[in-house]
Amino acid sequence: MIVYDLSLDQLTERLVSWGHPPYRARQVYGQLWRRSATYAEMTDVPAALRERLAEELPLGVELLDERTADRGATRKVLLRLGGRHIIETVLMGYPTRVTACVSAQSGCAMDCSFCATGQMGLFNNLSVGEIAAQVVWARRAASRLPPSTPRRITNVVFMGMGEPFANERPTLGAVARLTDPHGMRLGSRHITISTVGVVPGIRRLPDANDQVRLAVSLHAADEELRSELVPANRLWPLDQLVDAIAGWRARTHHRPSIEWAMIRDVNDSDDQAEKLARIAFELHAHVNLIPLNPTPGGPMQPSTPERIRAFVGLLERGKVNVTVRDTRGREIEAACGQLRWEHDRAMAGQP
Ligand code: SAH
Repeated sequence: MIVYDLSLDQLTERLVSWGHPPYRARQVYGQLWRRSATYAEMTDVPAALRERLAEELPLGVELLDERTADRGATRKVLLRLGGRHIIETVLMGYPTRVTACVSAQSGCAMDCSFCATGQMGLFNNLSVGEIAAQVVWARRAASRLPPSTPRRITNVVFMGMGEPFANERPTLGAVARLTDPHGMRLGSRHITISTVGVVPGIRRLPDANDQVRLAVSLHAADEELRSELVPANRLWPLDQLVDAIAGWRARTHHRPSIEWAMIRDVNDSDDQAEKLARIAFELHAHVNLIPLNPTPGGPMQPSTPERIRAFVGLLERGKVNVTVRDTRGREIEAACGQLRWEHDRAMAGQP
């Protein structure tokens, strides 16, 4: 249990049981979530209380490493959570927004063939506090962003390590914590859950939160190729997935996003583009194409710029909104589980 696991009510209950007035809990909670303060920095809280808090309700976040790329606009922090999980959180600054990319799990069981996290397997689920604390700590790093970007976090995407819907309750709990009006007050509409396509999770999402945005990692537009790239497709096939996304859209009236890693000679053919265009058009989805970030030792390569242009052309001809994502932080292994991978190698004494 770390302090970020507690709601304001739970923290109040605890502090009252220690003999403190409820306003102390509001003060501590506000410092934790609004100011990203550590206990040492809460100078308006009595020292004895801070000591007890540190002992019984630790922050549970250690900053192990911070690296920057793109002239400081991309920052990646390696965090140890709850004294045991090592995960990466990435901060990307743009002129009008700053996005924190958080992990829902340490490792991942989904086993997607092109993904570095998938190749390590699942270590642990993260708790509500361990997920939400990543944003608190990313916000500390946001104060060091260059002046060309906002110095606060405007968006959160669950595109770090792990599958959010394989750790569904803590993920939704973290969304609730991040949007808590007593705490960080992020808007749900600025939070995106990215899923490999866990159909039951997509179907349940509007009941928990009908504002949070949905991105689905499609990567292939027919059953055969998708099952090869994304083994979860064998459990939740494409036709059911498309149906679940359509259901989400009908209930929330929001535009879903489709993520598509562009992999050379694997999923970048005209045929795939045309099939994707039909699916995306039907779903009114926005398509994000991401040139594959090659994983160390993996055989797959990103599509060529010419192929990406042709692919975009076919999607546009199918009346689909499409964006080619810039590839931030490549040189600092900021993408897709690579940092943790590199950390593990370093720990094992490998080059
Ligand atoms: N499990 C969730 C969220 C984490 S992955 C999901 O699958 O959506 C975040 C995004 O990065 C996904 O779209 C995933 O497919 C993509 N991704 C993983 N490895 C990648 C790589 N090597 N290059 C480009 N994108 C990758």
